[in-house]
Amino acid sequence: MFGIRSWHLSLGLFAAGLMVGGWLVANGDRVSTAMREIRASFGVSTAYAQEAKAKPSPVKASARNFYAPNSEDLGPDEIRLIACGTGMPTARPKQAASCWLFELGNGDKFLFDVGTGSAERIAALQIPYNYLDKLFLSHLHTDHFGDLDALFVGGALAGRQKPLRVWGPSGETPERGTKYALEHLRKALTWDLDGRKGLTDPRGYFLDVTEFDYRGKNQVVYQENGVTIRSFPAIHSLDGPVSFSLEWNGFKVVFGGDTYPNKWFDEYAKDADLAIHEAFIAVPDMIKKFKFTPQSALLVGTQIHTAPEAFGKVMSRIKPRMAVAYHFFNDYDTSPAIYEGIRTTYDGPLSLAIDYMVWNITKDDIRVRMAAVDEDVWPPQATEKPQLPDLSSRIPYTAEIAGGRLDVKAENQIIYDAINKQYGLNEKQD
Ligand SMILES: [Zn+2]
Ligand SMILES: [Zn+2]
Repeated sequence: MFGIRSWHLSLGLFAAGLMVGGWLVANGDRVSTAMREIRASFGVSTAYAQEAKAKPSPVKASARNFYAPNSEDLGPDEIRLIACGTGMPTARPKQAASCWLFELGNGDKFLFDVGTGSAERIAALQIPYNYLDKLFLSHLHTDHFGDLDALFVGGALAGRQKPLRVWGPSGETPERGTKYALEHLRKALTWDLDGRKGLTDPRGYFLDVTEFDYRGKNQVVYQENGVTIRSFPAIHSLDGPVSFSLEWNGFKVVFGGDTYPNKWFDEYAKDADLAIHEAFIAVPDMIKKFKFTPQSALLVGTQIHTAPEAFGKVMSRIKPRMAVAYHFFNDYDTSPAIYEGIRTTYDGPLSLAIDYMVWNITKDDIRVRMAAVDEDVWPPQATEKPQLPDLSSRIPYTAEIAGGRLDVKAENQIIYDAINKQYGLNEKQD
């Protein structure tokens, strides 16, 4: 039988030019206990079992047990979930903040949250941006929508040729709602958006915002193409935050935004195939490693968020096929406290999420792996032919600034001549 450790080793050898979640590689012992437990609950995956049986060959590749983006078809009855952010508002290289991508076998893709740092993780998955046009926000903390500007503008530049559709909750007052936040984000981007006019395909630089009532209980906020997404309230910081469920093809997956354990999640997440819910950093680590005062640590770690012990209680009541915990710094020295806290109240299938963790959900299996991503990734091919910009929409420099140009026309003309010749064009310099 191949153990998790040998998987780490083979990944390590493979890793020239690739990167995997460093936590798994660097801290195999702790994680492998948790991962083995996951595997024990669901049996060993087919590829894994075949590899274990096959005779090793000096010339043939072994089956791999990681997810390489853009290399696997999705079955018609399958959901692939990828963690694009599992961390905290405090930025760190290892973990972006909350962001989750669901890919369905019917071709639909949905992003839930786009926390700070997550746009880079999304890019690493090599998905054409026209397919990444649907975003659901659980609430308006920056660790849940802080990379919206990067997804919005960067996504348009990288091939999203349509508006970015965003669904998010209202607030107790209009100023605390999603519509207000995004209208003002767009205003903050005035210089950015004006400066792009007339230079590239203009179609992606629009936000299409749907604000729904945060108080809705299991209300339908989206229903298209056989997919139903519902929202229900969460209890976190102020009125406004929500959680979501997504139903499709007999599956139910649930994404819990930040919350104190609440009765709505308890009711509407019941019997989910997979349930994502926050489990906050253990209070002693918040004091020791995060430098919180004990008073603040108790308040934030148990009253504004869900402590690991409380997460376990939630999951032992709703009994998902797979419970996914996130919203903590998942390190070799902090994850044991999370794991042990959860295990005081829950003994079912569990993933302690880290960025680039991947779940393939089918009717009879939930396979958990890590993605191995290419750090040198470029934007994928756009799904439609780019539209040429309307040159007349360019906003000119003032004469004072335009007059400051050095004369490099001759140098640039060489580039123009070469490209015009290669592509049969007759483009001219400004
Ligand atoms: Zn929050
Ligand atoms: Zn948060």
